[in-house]
Amino acid sequence: MAKKQTQKRRNIKITKRTAAAIFIILTLAITYLPLPITWDDIYAAAGFKLPKGNLNLLDLSIIFIDVGQGDSILIHTDSTNILIDTGPEGNAQNIKSVLNQLEINKLNYLIITHQHDDHMGSLEQLRRLIPIDNEIIPTENTKMSGMTQTFNDITLEFLGPIYLSDNLNNMSLVIKLTYKNKTFLFMADAESEEEANLIRQYNENLKADVIKVGHHGSDSSSSLDFLTLVQPEYAVISVGKDNDYGHPHQATLNALQQVGAKVYRTDRDGTIVCTTDGEKIVFHRLE
Ligand SMILES: [Zn+2]
Repeated sequence: MAKKQTQKRRNIKITKRTAAAIFIILTLAITYLPLPITWDDIYAAAGFKLPKGNLNLLDLSIIFIDVGQGDSILIHTDSTNILIDTGPEGNAQNIKSVLNQLEINKLNYLIITHQHDDHMGSLEQLRRLIPIDNEIIPTENTKMSGMTQTFNDITLEFLGPIYLSDNLNNMSLVIKLTYKNKTFLFMADAESEEEANLIRQYNENLKADVIKVGHHGSDSSSSLDFLTLVQPEYAVISVGKDNDYGHPHQATLNALQQVGAKVYRTDRDGTIVCTTDGEKIVFHRLE
């Protein structure tokens, strides 16, 4: 009986603590946010969601477009626009509306990382919507490792694939972008086997400020050894809400937490804008 009462008291205590936490979050939200306040604003104030942005873009912006379960990433400066992947079928209009918001009327480069539908399903539709100057579309025999392409101040270095593989995910183009003091690593769907190859070939050169997490946060990618070398400050997972694969896997989220990365996800944040002047990096959601 006495035990039951203690338990009851503890439950009341926890409820009181939760109420206090909600009260503090609401007070902070009301104090710091302009009216009218939405639940989105409250989630953002509590650190659950990225704050909205007003397209205050710095020199280089990397926009992780919400294409559901797939990848589509725009690299944007005043002079250069490069799209990595198009997401699954049915996303061309979605990508076009992001390009319209940024007043982009042609792509200098379109890079497809590998020939899976969730990365190139909207390619045909997108070609009909926007002029594309150059396309890089690898086949199952393309080894891009060691190639470098420079666009004004931006350098794209193709790190992988180093070897041919029967697993198309491990034939993903792995791209490192450098702008002044900041580096970004785009893993596409490269899995642990490819990560091990990259470690052997590049070691501490894998260090990056931001990582586009491999294979939508699957536990077949993002080995702790690899993430420890990359040491990302920020990690972006491009993943569909309630997807059939259970991505991102808890093991991946744990590994990212272990290396101290702050994680953003398209299933929660929608289209994510990462913008930098080469010194600082700022994230916000695209509305
Ligand atoms: Zn994929």
